[in-house]
Amino acid sequence: ENRGYTEYNLGCPILEACGHLGKYFYTKNVDYKTLQHIDVAGLINDADVLINLSHVKGHGSCGYGGACKNIAMGCVTDRTRYEIHSLEGGITWQPDLCTHCEQCIAACNHNANRFDEQGVYQVNYHNCTACQHCVKVCPAGALVLTGQHYLDFQTGMAVCTKAVLDTFDPADIYHINFLIAITAVCDCWGMTTPSLVPDIGIMASPDIVAVEKASLDAVKIENLIRNGIPTGHEMTGQGHLFEQLHGKNPFVQVNELERLDLGRQEYELEKVL
Ligand code: SF4
Ligand code: SF4
Repeated sequence: ENRGYTEYNLGCPILEACGHLGKYFYTKNVDYKTLQHIDVAGLINDADVLINLSHVKGHGSCGYGGACKNIAMGCVTDRTRYEIHSLEGGITWQPDLCTHCEQCIAACNHNANRFDEQGVYQVNYHNCTACQHCVKVCPAGALVLTGQHYLDFQTGMAVCTKAVLDTFDPADIYHINFLIAITAVCDCWGMTTPSLVPDIGIMASPDIVAVEKASLDAVKIENLIRNGIPTGHEMTGQGHLFEQLHGKNPFVQVNELERLDLGRQEYELEKVL
């Protein structure tokens, strides 16, 4: 609500996809490393039609956030979000480096971390989504992600996306990607930065693979607005603009979606407005 997602702003009802208590979901079995089930949000599972509105932007863990990430993180329970993020690795607290500034506590949107009475950092893994906000704000480097298996995170998102999309008739799915205010980092941080490239427009397709590929192709390094690069980020000089920012190839998730037979990367752009 404090990020502007209100019924007043959106002009439509907002429903809690897993129910008010977060306990309404359907578990689908999958088999990808430690990711063995996907909890599809109950109201998503029950819906007749999926219109997937996504904001295209960069992302620290997978390079790119668009239609796939919107489904994989947005249509499931906290448990599944945690298990997908956990494919990247675990979080370790290093007490000798910690200054107890508590920035990590303030950065957590899930009430998942705290210091106990002995001053030891504790994570409530029931609530934790492994989003790594705590890791990234820590000025002392006291929280460390061990593993950094980013390819597994991207693949896990594609596996999850398939589990969600399989609950719909393919004829009842439509993806709309907004390539507007394209920022370096994900909206889940609750803040924004200047745009990385000029606004491009809106892309739409029933094919998630095609719309993701077309969106990524449209975000071109030659259009980079350097003011949009967050402080502390160094461009690597190799690959897609998002890869240069975050060091992760954003096409991995697109390739994986195609391998899972969710669509094709070939596309033709048709201008409608
Ligand atoms: S942000 Fe880092 S240094 Fe500050 S309390 Fe958390 S772990 Fe310790
Ligand atoms: S990883 Fe995310 S959800 Fe988990 S404790 Fe850190 S900030 Fe909170």
